[in-house]
Amino acid sequence: MNHQALVELDHQYTMQTYGRFDIDIDRGRGATLYDLAGKEYIDFTSGIGVCSVGYANPKWVEAVSAQAARLGHISNLFYSRPYAELARTLCRRSGLAAAFFANSGAEANEGMIKLARKYSFDKYGKGRGTVITLRNSFHGRTITTLAATGQDVFHNYFFPFTDGFRHADAGSLDSVQAAAGHDVCAVMLELIQGEGGVLPMDRDFVHALAELCAERDWLLLVDEVQTGVGRTGTLFAFQQYEVEPDVVSFAKGIAGGLPFGGILAGQRCRDVLTPGTHATTFGGNPVCAAAAQAVLEILDEEALTLVAEKGDYLRARIEGMGLDCLGATRGLGLMIGVEVRGGHTNRALAAKLMENGLLVLTAGQALRLLPPLTITKEEMDKGLAILEQTLRAV
Ligand SMILES: *Cc1c(COP(=O)(O)O)cnc(C)c1O
Repeated sequence: MNHQALVELDHQYTMQTYGRFDIDIDRGRGATLYDLAGKEYIDFTSGIGVCSVGYANPKWVEAVSAQAARLGHISNLFYSRPYAELARTLCRRSGLAAAFFANSGAEANEGMIKLARKYSFDKYGKGRGTVITLRNSFHGRTITTLAATGQDVFHNYFFPFTDGFRHADAGSLDSVQAAAGHDVCAVMLELIQGEGGVLPMDRDFVHALAELCAERDWLLLVDEVQTGVGRTGTLFAFQQYEVEPDVVSFAKGIAGGLPFGGILAGQRCRDVLTPGTHATTFGGNPVCAAAAQAVLEILDEEALTLVAEKGDYLRARIEGMGLDCLGATRGLGLMIGVEVRGGHTNRALAAKLMENGLLVLTAGQALRLLPPLTITKEEMDKGLAILEQTLRAV
């Protein structure tokens, strides 16, 4: 099948919910992808922060294949080793107490919201179900996580949305306090707003927010769906912000490309969700859990140190190019936003880069780079050369 035939097939039989780039991808290795025609692309996207250990990582392939050959699925009504072992690894490395596994970021966040509401219900009864979230945030595409998302563009068509979310300005404790009331049970935030444009939260704001949560007995819910699993140079971003969340959600990078997500709760919240109150058929699937275990083994402390160094390298090189169309960079580790300036749009620049063999993402007004965490220096340099050559000419 060639590109044109694939595009026609897709248009004929699939709901056109994605504004796709005019590129198909057929296979990959490391941080390098190939389309049906065999053209090579350097990948600064990892899907959208999903293929954390690159494509066809041998250790990941081995773990997935071995578990698929052993047991592909078992209902959560039974004990299974991959589930429990993965939970142990995540708890040990995060300092949190217990895990629940789901299948996606939105579903993980739904679990986190349910946990916060039940924590409050158990202690205070009804009427305390409101979660404060931040403007410009992104928490998912279900009706409830859309309501949680602090961007008006997402609050269309699908009425009625779920009640119980109030938005405050990111970075402003005054704004959070103005949104507060006796009906609040939690604050939920991303430490770096990903879809919103790669916007890191101010450390002092995060610390003040954590204090306010402790004072009012609100749970501090951190959405690490994008920032988690080594993306920022520590296993979770909260470890660099030096706060202790009550619950953390994760998904994207956790299983290196397979659909997986979940939440981790601290000691105080580990027993809030009791038998029958929360469940999911596929959550904790053994193949996905084995993949996640392999991902976490690959992303050991040494690999995480390298993530921080690679991020610094990419940012210094891009800023050093002094391109007219790009401004300052921001982010942590290999979660990088690059300001677009000079009247260019991020989408147009991204399309040009792709044409020339470098895949990048956009977010807000910025270019967003989320390369595989295992990307090599050679692959980074190849990508940077394409970036410089292409954008020097616009
Ligand atoms: C991607 C993302 C989600 C949604 O994850 P899905 O797996 O697409 O449901 C939620 N929160 C954040 C911060 C994300 O980046």
